[in-house]
Amino acid sequence: MDQLNLPDAEWRERLTPAQYHVLREAGTERAFSGHYSDLKADGIYRCAGCALELFDSDDKYDSGSGWPSFTRPIAADHIAEYRDTSHGMVRIEVRCGRCDGHQGHVFPDGPPPTGLRYCINSVALEFDPRAA
Ligand code: FE
Repeated sequence: MDQLNLPDAEWRERLTPAQYHVLREAGTERAFSGHYSDLKADGIYRCAGCALELFDSDDKYDSGSGWPSFTRPIAADHIAEYRDTSHGMVRIEVRCGRCDGHQGHVFPDGPPPTGLRYCINSVALEFDPRAA
């Protein structure tokens, strides 16, 4: 995966303040506030920072958490996972594999087939409907 490294000033230009806060400052949108948490449409979710395909609606499920939730990424190398010990918790942070933008976290309490819950911020994603 080729990396996309941009200077901070360029990210500030490209992204909305809400996108910048989540993608570049590892912020978290309020639960149930995101525009994709209830979306059931068929398509691909891309990184809002660099448009890399990250998740497929086929792997999306209703976790009840208030954030878009997926059982797996579209491809293992399209995301990067890091140990995150902020806020007094040990979590696995999920970032875009190309632009290193923060997406959310992955938890081991998801449904089959993976048992994983990729808990992602709506604002870090851009939905791309599948052509019929
Ligand atoms: Fe990205």
